[in-house]
Amino acid sequence: MGKVTGFLEIEREQPTRRVPQERIKDWFEIYNPFPEEKQRDQAARCMDCGVPFCHTGCPVNNIIPDWNDLVYSNRWEAAIRRLHATNNFPEFTGRICPAPCEAACVLGITEPPVSIKVIERSIVERAWDEGWIRPEPPEHNTGKRVAVVGSGPSGLAAAQQLRRSGHSVTVYEKNDRIGGLLRYGIPNFKLEKHVIDRRIAQMKAEGVTFLINAHVGVNIPVDTLTEHYDAIVLCGGAEQPRDLKVPGRALKGIHFAMEFLPQQNRRCEGDTVSEELAILAKDKSVLIIGGGDTGADCLGTSLRQGARRVHQFEIMPKPPESRASSTPWPQWPLQLRTESSHEEGGIRDWSINSVQFTGDENGNVKQLHGLRVGAPPKFEALEGSEFTLDVDLVLLAMGFLGPVRNGMIEQLGLALDARGNIATTGYKSSVDGIFAAGDMRRGQSLVVWAISEGRQAAEAVDKYLAETAEPTLLRHRVTA
Ligand SMILES: Cc1cc2nc3c(=O)[nH]c(=O)nc-3n(C[C@H](O)[C@H](O)[C@H](O)COP(=O)(O)OP(=O)(O)OC[C@H]3O[C@@H](n4cnc5c(N)ncnc54)[C@H](O)[C@@H]3O)c2cc1C
Ligand code: SF4
Repeated sequence: MGKVTGFLEIEREQPTRRVPQERIKDWFEIYNPFPEEKQRDQAARCMDCGVPFCHTGCPVNNIIPDWNDLVYSNRWEAAIRRLHATNNFPEFTGRICPAPCEAACVLGITEPPVSIKVIERSIVERAWDEGWIRPEPPEHNTGKRVAVVGSGPSGLAAAQQLRRSGHSVTVYEKNDRIGGLLRYGIPNFKLEKHVIDRRIAQMKAEGVTFLINAHVGVNIPVDTLTEHYDAIVLCGGAEQPRDLKVPGRALKGIHFAMEFLPQQNRRCEGDTVSEELAILAKDKSVLIIGGGDTGADCLGTSLRQGARRVHQFEIMPKPPESRASSTPWPQWPLQLRTESSHEEGGIRDWSINSVQFTGDENGNVKQLHGLRVGAPPKFEALEGSEFTLDVDLVLLAMGFLGPVRNGMIEQLGLALDARGNIATTGYKSSVDGIFAAGDMRRGQSLVVWAISEGRQAAEAVDKYLAETAEPTLLRHRVTA
């Protein structure tokens, strides 16, 4: 344990954010530096509890009290080893994880919890700066070949673990850059993309092969995979967006969040988005439908693009300001979350149902017709609550309905679970030699869960390959 009386003496502190009016003028990350002295002070607040609930609160089971102690005692290189033992990519989670560990921190029962996430980020950033993060290629090659489909956090974690176990690993990615939603989804102001690039460079140096513009089931036939690899891990995400099937949906100016956000990621990379395809919020009255994280990302992006006005509507009622009694400690609390984007502007409202859109003579969306509703599950319309809102751009951020089924999943003949995700038993799909992980298996989730799943799927693949004495082409096993 760090400082025995640390939690009694030191208050919780978090890095400050740049001033909203300033930060919406650029796309850089929003946090100010957090000095080393503060990092160590915050680590000193950890009580090293007998039963550290933060371990189980964290989906990768980070050994949090150990690295808090190592930071407090200035043993940073040992701290990164401890952190990497459970998490391949702490630089992602240290930035964008909602930190369920902090919600489960024992100190949090009576005091503000330990600032776990910023300590995680501090350890990994220091390790990169000091040159402690180097390629870790395997000492022996097994001669077995594994294809990983999808280069989001689950695919990357699976690929790195499998390569380090000595297998030959090729990652197939349909997009033109590696990273999944880390690259084309999560805005730069939450995660600058050089953070992904340096990790990819490490993985390439370890021997992972990355193929981009490689859409399995479209321009890469599934047979190519089944014929050439001993195992396949599907990490293609949950890319099927939930639609809003109301009159007027087909009007111009109504888009899914994931049509809008990746365009801005591309502009930040220096790409040009053609004028005819461009979806821009500049000078527009924007409506975001969906009150979650993706909606908040649309808000921050719209404000940076120079929107005239932004509304964000949610059909669920407004959550309580503090932890709801239905979600006691150490559970993830139901409570109102104010994301950084909400500090920057926009108008949030809850219990609103979007009923219809109407447009002008050119087919452009011009108005939302909405009304207020009661509590779920009935969402009964409140009499006399109908209203209209002038809009020029509508962004649908209402979640995702699992993976895209036509193409790869259908061609491989995989069974799906009741929610439409790939059905698995211990990460094994219904087809021998094919595994699944991340959002494609569990539905839309979090980066930290994707990393956890990628690691566990890799373990399952490694075991499966170890049980196969000679490399055997998957096709022979599938058709046997
Ligand atoms: C806008 C947005 C913001 C988010 N913000 C956060 C956040 O702040 N914190 C957080 O923890 N989580 C966040 N999430 C959720 C998080 O990003 C996902 O849970 C996570 O990325 C899932 O990882 P994955 O590897 O399973 O899939 P993905 O990241 O979706 O990656 C899947 C990859 O597979 C590729 N692919 C799919 N099919 C094929 C195919 N047939 N052939 C080749 N390639 C294929 C896709 O192109 C994609 O690159 C956010 C999600 C969204 C949409
Ligand atoms: S990965 Fe997320 S839950 Fe785990 S320690 Fe880091 S911030 Fe906490």
